Amino acid sequence: MVECLAGLHRRKTPKSWVGKRNRLGNWRKGGQQPFSFSAEPSMEEIRRLQGEFTAERDWNQFHQPRSLLLALVGEVGELAELFQWRADAAEGLPGWTEAERERLEHELSDVLIYLLELAEKCRVDLPRAALRKMALNRAKYPASRVRGSARKYTEYED
Ligand SMILES: [Mg+2]
Repeated sequence: MVECLAGLHRRKTPKSWVGKRNRLGNWRKGGQQPFSFSAEPSMEEIRRLQGEFTAERDWNQFHQPRSLLLALVGEVGELAELFQWRADAAEGLPGWTEAERERLEHELSDVLIYLLELAEKCRVDLPRAALRKMALNRAKYPASRVRGSARKYTEYED
């Protein structure tokens, strides 16, 4: 398990990027440019900052797990609204305006902030839990068996 978790950290280049550059090193038309998050802040730093924000306003009395879950669902709805009726939402969101991208950043952040606060209030160590879940997903969906297929794990024969 630990080796499997460590392997997740070691992978630097997703396979979907391999072979998308031409021989001059430029990205081919239609190829996705590499993307990664900033190293900071960590999930723990966001959790701590949100905890300070909530405590300073005496809002912990309202931020119980059920309320946070409902707030999270509301923010997911606001996020979905941005994509509703849009057929142009390809990877990288080409054609989206700066204002649309800013709204997207806000809604994704609202979702993340409530998700982290919900995990905190439920005492779930979310970064560790996510790594464990990805290890389970790797075991459930071995690449050699499911590559290129969108079927659920219960649909594969032994
Ligand atoms: Mg929002």
